[in-house]
Amino acid sequence: MNLRKPIFLFMAALTSLAAVAQQPTQTINKDSLPDDAIIVKRVPLESGPEFNATDVLVVDTLPSSSEGLNIVLYNDNTWRYVRNRNINVLDETVFTQNWDTTKIQVYTTELKDIPISMVIDLVDTLKSYHYPHKGRVTSKYGPRRRRIHQGTDIDLETGDPIYATFDGRVRICTYVRGGYGNLIILRHDNGLETFYGHLSEIMVKPNEWVTAGQQIGKGGNTGRSTGSHLHFEMRYKGQTFDPERLIDFSTGTLRRETFLLKRTYFSPYSRFTQDFEEEIQSDEEDKKIAAEAAAIKYHIVKRGDTLGRIAINNHTTVTKLCQLNGIKKTSVLRIGQRIRVR
Ligand SMILES: [Zn+2]
Repeated sequence: MNLRKPIFLFMAALTSLAAVAQQPTQTINKDSLPDDAIIVKRVPLESGPEFNATDVLVVDTLPSSSEGLNIVLYNDNTWRYVRNRNINVLDETVFTQNWDTTKIQVYTTELKDIPISMVIDLVDTLKSYHYPHKGRVTSKYGPRRRRIHQGTDIDLETGDPIYATFDGRVRICTYVRGGYGNLIILRHDNGLETFYGHLSEIMVKPNEWVTAGQQIGKGGNTGRSTGSHLHFEMRYKGQTFDPERLIDFSTGTLRRETFLLKRTYFSPYSRFTQDFEEEIQSDEEDKKIAAEAAAIKYHIVKRGDTLGRIAINNHTTVTKLCQLNGIKKTSVLRIGQRIRVR
């Protein structure tokens, strides 16, 4: 009897050791965290549905509760929200300033003139995001041999569909010999531009509006390319940054809904890492950004609206509205104009 107890304890210890060994590798070093730290697991945003405008016919367009969105009914009994491009462009100048359908590089903004950090809304109420192509990353952003790789290469078979990443407008469709090959550049409401290179086929035209998940072309091997792949770039004001900061290409998910774009990211040596310290910091920033964004409220100007009426309806004053929007009490309001009320 005396012998059995130690053996039992030894067996129990072995079992618990085995249990520890079976646990996945812990990447979190809890000692490095402050005592009151809360670990928040970020849930990546799944890719939205594909959008095929050619196979279906629009049966009807109805207004929705949001003036910026219409409900479009299709003949296959499906429906979806579609942006009302007449009034809902977040910043109208995005699609007019530096808009050139012939020149790839149109921004003259220098790196030093870009804010140290800025908040980019990747998705809005439409949750409009779709991966450009889901697959293995074969070449990362950054220094590669003697050149700088301006984007991420994703493996594919020639003919694979390539999708618009966010809603936006086609700026460039061209062929760049010895470089991008067949190239599409889209500009999005959030101010970002996405580049899709080495395509075998281009299925859109400049100035056309596109929806996230809409097929814009087919993957290929055109231009300076060995083996079929998608060369995908993300740019802000002409400056590139690592697309893997936003997209997990192996799963197709968007890593975050709001992105704090830092000027340091534009360095070709700044790559996305799974560094936990940075993740924690980003989580904190995300929470702050979300709180600030939640506090902001807009009103879309309707027929008959005056600053006084908007102020009363939103429990604020005309003076405050003027301050928030950088306008005068005498400014004329346009229907569809977005007025920040909080
Ligand atoms: Zn590439």
